[in-house]
Amino acid sequence: MRMGMASETITTRCAIAGGGPAGMMLGFLLARAGIDVLVLEKHADFLRDFRGDTIHPSTLEIMHELGLLDEFLKLPHSEVRELTGLIGEDRVVLADFSHLPTRCQFVAFIPQWDFLDFLADHAKLYPSFHLRVQADVDGLLKDGDKVVGLKAKTPDGPIDVRADLVVGADGRHSAVRDLAGLEVEDFGAPMDVLWLRLSKRPGDGAQSLGRIQAGRLFVMLDRGDYWQCAFVISKGGFNELRRQGLGAFRAAIVALNPALADRVQEIGSWDDVRLLTVKVDRLKRWYRDGLLCIGDAAHAMSPVGGVGINLAIQDAVAAANVLALPLRAGPVSVELLHKVQARRQWPTEMMQWVQLLVQKRIISNVLSMTEQPRAPFAVRLLNRYPMLRRLPARLIGMGFRPEHVHTPEAG
Ligand SMILES: Cc1cc2nc3c(=O)[nH]c(=O)nc-3n(C[C@H](O)[C@H](O)[C@H](O)COP(=O)(O)OP(=O)(O)OC[C@H]3O[C@@H](n4cnc5c(N)ncnc54)[C@H](O)[C@@H]3O)c2cc1C
Repeated sequence: MRMGMASETITTRCAIAGGGPAGMMLGFLLARAGIDVLVLEKHADFLRDFRGDTIHPSTLEIMHELGLLDEFLKLPHSEVRELTGLIGEDRVVLADFSHLPTRCQFVAFIPQWDFLDFLADHAKLYPSFHLRVQADVDGLLKDGDKVVGLKAKTPDGPIDVRADLVVGADGRHSAVRDLAGLEVEDFGAPMDVLWLRLSKRPGDGAQSLGRIQAGRLFVMLDRGDYWQCAFVISKGGFNELRRQGLGAFRAAIVALNPALADRVQEIGSWDDVRLLTVKVDRLKRWYRDGLLCIGDAAHAMSPVGGVGINLAIQDAVAAANVLALPLRAGPVSVELLHKVQARRQWPTEMMQWVQLLVQKRIISNVLSMTEQPRAPFAVRLLNRYPMLRRLPARLIGMGFRPEHVHTPEAG
C-alpha cells in the first residue's frame, strides 16, 4: 500500500461530514426514508464543550411529527416559557412562548449531547444508518468538477467514502466548504462570548435571565444543578480582560449579579473560562455538483436569540424533504441542491438580519456605555402590553417559515 492511499473504501448514497444537530438530523431522516447514509464525526462522542442547549418549539414540533416527542421529553430538561431580562434596574419580560401555535409552548433546555445521543440512538434503529466517529474529513473525491465522495482520517488509517451526495454539516469552521471552494460572505460581529459554569444553589430560582449594565451583558442559563453563564465582551477584548486579572473578572460578575458573590471563586483559573469567537457569515452558494452545505457550515449564526441549533435542524428537514426521494434513485441534480438553498436562504437571511440589527443597535451600544442603561421605550412597551411579547417569542421559538417533515418512513 502506498502512503496516503485509503486503507478502506466505503460506498454509500449520502456521506455527511459532521455529527452536530444538522448532520445527525439529516442522517436520521434519510435513514428513516430507507436511504443508505454515513455520518462522519471527527470526535469520539457528542460529549463536548458547551455548544448551546436550546431546543426550540419548532424543533419540538418536528420531534412530534417524527413521533419522538414524548420520549424526548422524558430526558432530563427544563422548560422555559418566558425570557426575562434585567436592563439596568428595569426588569422586562422579553418573550412569552405560552401562546405559540405549536404543541410545546416552551423552549426545552437540554444538553446538546443528550439531544444528539437521542437522535443517534433512534437513527441506529434503521439499518441504513451508519455513524463513524473519530473520522476527520479532510478531502473531497472528485470526478472532474463533480464531487463524488470524501476522504477522512481515522485511527485505523485514511478512508475514502464514495457517495452520490456529500453534505457539509461540519459547523462554523467547515472544512468541507473550504475544500469545495464555496465563497463566504462575512457579516462581522462586535462581540465575543465567554462561557463559564457556576454552581446553582437552593433559592436561586429557576428562570434563565439576561442582565445588561453599563458596558456589560451577562446571561445565565439554568442547567439544573449549575448555571451556564455567558459574559459578553467586545470583539477581541479577551486578552485585555486577562491582563486585568481573574479578580477583576470575578468582581465584574458580582457587580452584574451580587447573588453570585458566594461562588465566583469557583472560577479558579482562565481554563474555566471558554472563549467563543462570534461569527456571522453565509455562503453565497450552498452547493456545487454533488455537494451541499447546511447548518453552521452554510451560515454561522450569532448567539443572539440562541437560534443556531434550530436553524441547523430546519435546514436538515428541508434538505431531506427535497432530496430523500430523488436520492433513492441515485445522484441528485444541481437544480435540486439549488432548491434546498432557495427554500432555506430567506429564513436564514431574515434571522441573520435581525441578529445583526440587535448586535449593532443594542449589543454594540451596551458594550460602549459608561452609564447605567435603561430599557429602551420599545422594550418597556413589552411590560406594558404583554401581547407584544408574543412577537419575539414567535421569532425565537419558530423562526421564519418553519419546516415540517414530509419524508416518509420506509416500510
Ligand atoms: C459556545 C456556544 C454556545 C452556543 N449556544 C447556542 C444556544 O444556546 N442555542 C443555539 O441554538 N445555538 C447555540 N450555539 C450555536 C449552535 O451550537 C450552532 O448553531 C449549531 O450547533 C449548528 O449546528 P451544526 O450541526 O450546523 O454545526 P455544529 O453543531 O458545529 O456541528 C458540527 C459537527 O461537525 C463536526 N466536525 C467539524 N469538522 C469536522 C470534520 N472535518 N470532520 C468530521 N466532523 C467534523 C464537529 O465536531 C461537530 O460535531 C452555540 C454555539 C457555541 C459555540
